[in-house]
Amino acid sequence: MITKKEINEALNQTKDIFNYYDDICFMNSEKVLNAFHKYNVSYSDFEGTTGYGYSDIGRDKIERIYSEIFGGEDAIVRKEIVSGTHAIYIMLSGIIKQKDKLLVISGTPYDTIHESIGIKENKNSLISNGIIYEEIDLLSNDFDYEKIKLSIEKELPKVIYIQRSIGYSLRESIDILKMEQIVKFIKNINKNIIIAVDNCYTEFVESKSPLEVGCDLIVGSLIKNLGAGIVPSGGYIIGRKDLINDISERLYVPGLGKEIGPSLNMNKYILQGLYNAPSVVNNSLKTVIIASLLLENNGFKVEPKYNEKRSDIVEKIYLENADNLIKFVNSIQKYSAIDSNFKIIPDDMPGYDSKIVMASGSFITGSSIELSCDAPLRAPFVAYLQGSITFEYGLIAIMNAINELKK
Ligand SMILES: *Cc1c(COP(=O)(O)O)cnc(C)c1O
Repeated sequence: MITKKEINEALNQTKDIFNYYDDICFMNSEKVLNAFHKYNVSYSDFEGTTGYGYSDIGRDKIERIYSEIFGGEDAIVRKEIVSGTHAIYIMLSGIIKQKDKLLVISGTPYDTIHESIGIKENKNSLISNGIIYEEIDLLSNDFDYEKIKLSIEKELPKVIYIQRSIGYSLRESIDILKMEQIVKFIKNINKNIIIAVDNCYTEFVESKSPLEVGCDLIVGSLIKNLGAGIVPSGGYIIGRKDLINDISERLYVPGLGKEIGPSLNMNKYILQGLYNAPSVVNNSLKTVIIASLLLENNGFKVEPKYNEKRSDIVEKIYLENADNLIKFVNSIQKYSAIDSNFKIIPDDMPGYDSKIVMASGSFITGSSIELSCDAPLRAPFVAYLQGSITFEYGLIAIMNAINELKK
């Protein structure tokens, strides 16, 4: 059994790292509060519109606040966006038309968007609609500058797409410094190339957003970092005003764009989620940092190590075989708040090729800013652990999961 002493030593050992992330949390909290004050968030903003949704003051304020915090000109923050995948698809299909080239420079993108791009056959995909697609792998965890330059020179891409977090890959996440360097490089070759970023799981992990280092668009889900476990559903896209307009006309209707879309009763949740997000992201970082150290101490390979730099909230745990993997995911479910009696079995999920095991005993279905753990059931049997609204609940689950592994 994992002892109290072991936990205390781990907490001691992680103190400096925790302090580092407390500082980041402080900076991001100031950003959020300043934006709330700049736009005078008031109780009446919670009152959403119905019907067409014209003149939804709270909704429009939320989008100005998002733009302010993340350094964009405009934003779409809407409940109509169902998931991160939906937000990414809306973004790409809003800005890429027939014969335009889409160049992905962070390796094969996240599983669930394969069909929407057409990496996996679908008659409605972007590729089926005539866009040109090319993909370049990362090179030892950084961008393959040479190949990117060659590809741009061969045929100018309309959009370059970067996925920062790791998805179900074994690579590292892409930090803001690497983002800054690649943006300079690309814009130096041609400043008209649109740089669009899948920002899922990276929000508030560092103190800067990709838009602040020159990217044109960022996109993510509100049942991850920025919803803080409070927002029931939604997604965001932030960036250049003209592009946000194109994307809003794809999401809604040409000519109407962002003017429509009733917020119903969602404004309060979206604001409250954003308000809590820096702290919740901090708690989830502390959870995976302590998990990283404790699991390493108990003989498992982990990435990143507890003291390595992070730019997303995800921890990879190499569990060596299917048995351990299923056991670990089940422990996370067992020590979650909701549906703790559920037994997790590997199953097919829409958008994924392998069978998936997924623990998400969460208040919001599928919410992975709440403590959650998922994995494709395939070698090398890596569990992807993320989230936790509070550090204490995270720690309780990790301790017990390790105990069950040791049984
Ligand atoms: C979660 C995630 C997405 C989107 O997933 P949804 O489940 O559709 O919200 C996209 N990219 C990355 C890297 C992600 O982590």
